[in-house]
Amino acid sequence: MSRAAVFCLVLGGSVIVLLPFVWHALQRAPLPSVAERTLENVVLQWKCDAGHTFEAPGHVDPVFCKTCNNNAYPVTGYACPRHGRFQVQVKFERADDGSLRTAAVRLMGRDWASEAEGVRCPRCERRLKYEQRDPFGTP
Ligand SMILES: [Zn+2]
Ligand SMILES: [Zn+2]
Repeated sequence: MSRAAVFCLVLGGSVIVLLPFVWHALQRAPLPSVAERTLENVVLQWKCDAGHTFEAPGHVDPVFCKTCNNNAYPVTGYACPRHGRFQVQVKFERADDGSLRTAAVRLMGRDWASEAEGVRCPRCERRLKYEQRDPFGTP
């Protein structure tokens, strides 16, 4: 038997052996709610007030910057049709029903605004549009 054939046999064998376990694990693990799945289980980009960026799992409360200990918030992309993309910090909150929503947004270094108010382009005052295709980066 050629080496490749042996390799295929071993690989195929281990997949077959593992499948029941994987299946079992999937059956037993309760699926987290959508809100949990989309926030706590996803690594977001965070930015602190001093401008340090780092990656950490999503979290409703602010996370402390590992470098300077300031509050850090997730950052995401908003864009002005004329002036391009801006980084916007986002504050999440958990509603009474457990669902997750955006509590406030702000341009780096500016004041917080409610999501309804939105953020405006610092150059032309046009309202910025949320730009990232998917807030949590899944394709
Ligand atoms: Zn920092
Ligand atoms: Zn603009």
